[in-house]
Amino acid sequence: MKMRLSLYLKFILGYLAFGLLGFVTISTLSSRMMYAHQVDETAAALYDEANLIAGAYSSVYRGSGQDLNSAYSQLQAVAEFVRSEIWVVNRQGIVVVDSSRSARSGTEIQGFDPAAMGSRSYMISDYYGQFPYEVLSVSAPITGNYNTYGYVLLHMPVSQIYEISSRSLNVVYIAAAILFVLSLIILLVFTKTVYFPLKKITAGANEYASGNLKHQIDVHSRDEMGYLAATLNYMSGELDKMEEYQRNFIANVSHDFRSPLTSIKGYLEAIIDGTIPPELYEKYLTRVIAETERLTKLTQGMLTLNTLDSKGYLSRTNFDINRVIKDTAASFEGTCTAKGITFELTFSEAVLMVYADLGKVQQVLYNLIDNAIKFSYPDSAIEIQAYTRNEKIFVSVKDRGIGIPRDSVKKIWERFYKSDQSRGKDKRGTGLGLAIVKEIIQAHGENIDVVSTEGVGSEFIFSLPKAGNL
Ligand code: ADP
Repeated sequence: MKMRLSLYLKFILGYLAFGLLGFVTISTLSSRMMYAHQVDETAAALYDEANLIAGAYSSVYRGSGQDLNSAYSQLQAVAEFVRSEIWVVNRQGIVVVDSSRSARSGTEIQGFDPAAMGSRSYMISDYYGQFPYEVLSVSAPITGNYNTYGYVLLHMPVSQIYEISSRSLNVVYIAAAILFVLSLIILLVFTKTVYFPLKKITAGANEYASGNLKHQIDVHSRDEMGYLAATLNYMSGELDKMEEYQRNFIANVSHDFRSPLTSIKGYLEAIIDGTIPPELYEKYLTRVIAETERLTKLTQGMLTLNTLDSKGYLSRTNFDINRVIKDTAASFEGTCTAKGITFELTFSEAVLMVYADLGKVQQVLYNLIDNAIKFSYPDSAIEIQAYTRNEKIFVSVKDRGIGIPRDSVKKIWERFYKSDQSRGKDKRGTGLGLAIVKEIIQAHGENIDVVSTEGVGSEFIFSLPKAGNL
């Protein structure tokens, strides 16, 4: 809970920090830049103005223009326009004309130095103590006939420049504020695409942790979040299946062990308490042995599956599958003659070499033939074929017997699956045989399939890799 809150909090804090830093940047860096720019701009404009005025005064001095006094009102208008004071100063530093009409005319500027501005075209100062505040001053010489008659000086209060620059700064502030508000969109997008899905995913993870594996995380966006949710859903589904499988497995194992144990116990008790007379001992003890054998078979089957499960590696060799089929079929001779069953073996070639685990393939054939015999009608034939197709060797075991009902065809591969017939007629079935067969074939990277018609028979076909000519 705490963690989820803090992610959002962090993002909001980051957002606020972004706003604050943005504001500080504008108010310091931008305002300074804006002011410096404004000073340059104003100084250049004033300097142009000063030169224009100086040009006009140059003709006055040479006597070709109006006199100083008639130029005065013009000067005032210009001063008003450029919002500065305009002075005309002679070479000695005595103010000749002053647009502000303050009683400065005739005063001498102490320490006046026309070269003081140096290469810079302006200076910012109180201009030799003439102003009680800071002014931006520019000057232009009045020249004519290779003479400098005096200077035109323009003074603008620095406060005015500040005012102008801060006015343009306001525009920047407003733009920044709008940008800040617009960037809320990022926050909204983050909330919708990351925060809410993440909240659901975290809640789902908590459900899984507390054991509710059926929970589905309801995030279906086509992005990383959706992918993460789908992966988690898949994972929990698999875990759930596994759990269910394990429950079933234990139920099946317990059941399969209990019934033989119950009958063994029953027979032995009956022998001890005399219900079974000694002359029948042999009959019942034979049954006890049969049950014990069933238990052994069950345990062996489970062990086999377990080793296959844990990727018990295959020890592959090249061998002739025809030979293995013949040998395995021969080992069933006794059972077959009792039931009147015959084998029909067909090989497409005299020798069919495969690359596989011999012992495990023997087990596959054994289980398939065992089933075929179990479920065959008496006095029928079991066909076993081996042939090459598409660079693989196929083996088929086909019986004429009871077949498999359509709705159980898929289930026969499950561990402990037994048809009712198998339970009733043949109590020695474990339901593990085909599960083992499938595991072995899959471990070889091959497939096994079944075609069956109820009441007609079944055919199991599996493939094996051909021996390479390495
Ligand atoms: P088991 O034979 O010990 O019962 P299997 O795993 O070998 O266990 O087989 C599972 C089930 O598949 C059998 O109980 C039976 O119903 C069905 N089955 C397998 N092979 C055949 C077959 N050749 N003909 C009909 N049914 C079969």
